Amino acid sequence: MFDTKENFKEAFKKELVMQLGKPVSQATDADVYRILGMMIRERIGEDWANTNQRLKAAKAKQVYYFSMEFLIGRQLGNNLLSLGVLELVRDGLQELGFDLDSAEEEESDPGLGNGGLGRLAACFLDSLAAQQLPGHGCGIRYRYGLFEQKIVDGHQVELPDYWLQRGNVWEVCREDKKVEVRFGGEVQMTERDGRLHFELAGYESIWAIPYDIPVIGSGSSHVNTLRLWSARPAKTPIKPNNGSYYNYLNYYRSVESVSEFLYPDDSEFEGKLLRLKQQYFLCSAGLQSILRTFDKLELPIECLPDKAAIHINDTHPTLVIPELMRILMDERSCSWEEAWQITRRAVSYTNHTTLSEALEKWPGVMVKQLLPRIYMIIEEMNKRFCAELLERYPGDQNRISQLAIVYGDQIRMANLAIAGSYSVNGVAALHTEILKKREMKAFYELYPERFNNKTNGISHRRWLMHANPALARLITEAIGSRWIRQPREMIGLIKYAEDRGFQDNLHEIKRGNKLRLAKYVRERLHISIDPDSIFDVQAKRLHAYKRQLLNVLHMMHLYNQLKDNPSADITPRTFLFSAKAAPGYYLAKNIIKLINTVADTVNRDRTVRDKMKVVFLENYSVSLAEKLIPAADVSEQISTAGKEASGTGNMKFMMNGALTVGTLDGANVEMHEMLGDDNMFLFGLRAEQVMEYNQSGEYSPWHIYDVDLRVKEVMDQLIQPGRFCPEGQDFESIYQSVLHHQDEFFVLKDFASYVEAHLRIDLAYRNARDWLKKSALNIAHSGKFSSDHTIKQYATGIWQIEPLILQRRK
Ligand SMILES: *Cc1c(COP(=O)(O)O)cnc(C)c1O
Repeated sequence: MFDTKENFKEAFKKELVMQLGKPVSQATDADVYRILGMMIRERIGEDWANTNQRLKAAKAKQVYYFSMEFLIGRQLGNNLLSLGVLELVRDGLQELGFDLDSAEEEESDPGLGNGGLGRLAACFLDSLAAQQLPGHGCGIRYRYGLFEQKIVDGHQVELPDYWLQRGNVWEVCREDKKVEVRFGGEVQMTERDGRLHFELAGYESIWAIPYDIPVIGSGSSHVNTLRLWSARPAKTPIKPNNGSYYNYLNYYRSVESVSEFLYPDDSEFEGKLLRLKQQYFLCSAGLQSILRTFDKLELPIECLPDKAAIHINDTHPTLVIPELMRILMDERSCSWEEAWQITRRAVSYTNHTTLSEALEKWPGVMVKQLLPRIYMIIEEMNKRFCAELLERYPGDQNRISQLAIVYGDQIRMANLAIAGSYSVNGVAALHTEILKKREMKAFYELYPERFNNKTNGISHRRWLMHANPALARLITEAIGSRWIRQPREMIGLIKYAEDRGFQDNLHEIKRGNKLRLAKYVRERLHISIDPDSIFDVQAKRLHAYKRQLLNVLHMMHLYNQLKDNPSADITPRTFLFSAKAAPGYYLAKNIIKLINTVADTVNRDRTVRDKMKVVFLENYSVSLAEKLIPAADVSEQISTAGKEASGTGNMKFMMNGALTVGTLDGANVEMHEMLGDDNMFLFGLRAEQVMEYNQSGEYSPWHIYDVDLRVKEVMDQLIQPGRFCPEGQDFESIYQSVLHHQDEFFVLKDFASYVEAHLRIDLAYRNARDWLKKSALNIAHSGKFSSDHTIKQYATGIWQIEPLILQRRK
């Protein structure tokens, strides 16, 4: 349809007239965006249908990736890239008087995720499609994404993110594939043909409507599907609702609320009824859709696990386990044993956290009321499971109660997920070891063969080729283009790490990205930042364990030093932050306020203006990350060791040539194995040391406060009027969390080591050649973190799926 610039221009002009009735001279950037979206959809429509046809004909096994979050980011640029027409479209548009970047800015960034977990799901979809693996995303089409963050007087303010306001060109509503999901009611048992039958009566019925988004395989004609479900009321409610119209409207409203918004909780479990409803809605709708596809193959039901791998991204979709049991027993006449066999062979689970406050535990009464049949099944599973355990561990009540699915009145979703699946994976080597040795030790001892590691990854197409096209071109100029299909080949860049010409180009590219970011900061915040200063970036969700606080305390200390000695010899620094805090997380919001207060003080002080600046960019999102990360010199990955399961931000920065200052946590450990001490700035306690202190209770933050004057000074500044409390407001809650609540995240303990790591950074940056060499080595080794590799490991190690080989796209 368009494979040269000329026929693209013709097609574009024609489409503009046909769809919008406009000549080129009147088209806006928003029009350009919409028309390009429509043209891409038309272009891939046939491939999309073909992929599904061929999947069916080949009876190929598919993975169904269930996730409550898909943080997919803007689609236009990536789709053009996957189709291999990005450059010709850019050039063609330019000749017509348009700028592709401006058109891309018109796309709203779907905020259908909180952070890393949702972004991982999106990178996985990209890698599945790129490798022609049959993979289907199952999620919810939230009408409101994660809130939009504004900073007002230094405080976070949340606004609704109505991302669908201007429609969504990428989705197709598949009304014909809607399914029914049932809530509430009572279970009625009847005996027929010598067995018990279970039926739900008096339930509330709602429709789940699928909206399909194409996931375009880069460089092939493979197109997978991301299916997002939307809740819609049934036209005639099955329950007559006392015949009142107003009751009916209330029912209407309550149904629509099921896919209304994404819960903005991150690393903190909140047992909200609506959230449980959302989880079941996703699981039930997704499974019904899987079974519908499976039925077309006309195979016996016990073959389901040979055709469908059902993967759950964290425990949020764990209800697929009892829901599949329900469908198999109540609708497909399987016995308990048959249903259990099938379910256990179909489901696999990824664990994302060791933070106990994040583990899902639903009150039994809540589940019983909302999902009575599901509750019965969970109880039965628990009963059978505990009976088995009793046989295996007679008398070991302690162990059995640790493993039980239901404990007290709580349903432990992680236990349910492990008991009901064939594979449990952690997301980085260290994380998986911690699961096996500590968090899930009892389960590991029971089912050692189920546990495995799959270190996270990131799409090098989005995070390098799309976010940093100049760097991608430089890599290709140096080592050829094979790395695009085989990202590990980036290792060939090692040869160029000391090449002056390569280094000069790398420097120019980084500087260009920094200039572009500086312009963005100037336009939004009216702060001018020096592109020759070190751009030191911490961008991720705001959470105590990620320790933005450690970064702020260090900045306060640096500023104090500059005030004591204005001529101190420091390499100019720009500290950049971006982070959303959960709306109910008071401490995190107080830290945002502190960052902004320090920023105000520092940026207004003309005596430090060419040494130090602090910038907080509001509303962290995929599109902001794509601007920020390519401009970073230093990547802050400073979580308390043992707390960050993997991190993926760390990998994005590395791939864009930033040097990491970090703890040995999550995937930083694997980065360090490749890079060594020379190419990374490590500091702080190790995970085992953190564990030892936690066990012995020997650590006291007061001790550090008393002996380290730098620490005392910055801590006191949090609560005393002075430099950082210009209006007398204080940061009492932060002060308390560190000194009175035992500094759970070892901020003060790691302070000295962190300050020292920053001194090393300061010195290293002065040697420009050596810095560029380190940067090049970071890029060279980052290919290992492409999610293409991660997905290959999931495909062969867990899912047993194979690429569906199609023709290359012409
Ligand atoms: C990658 C990414 C994250 C995860 O960052 P971490 O540093 O791994 O926590 C969060 N939000 C967005 C928008 C991202 O792109």
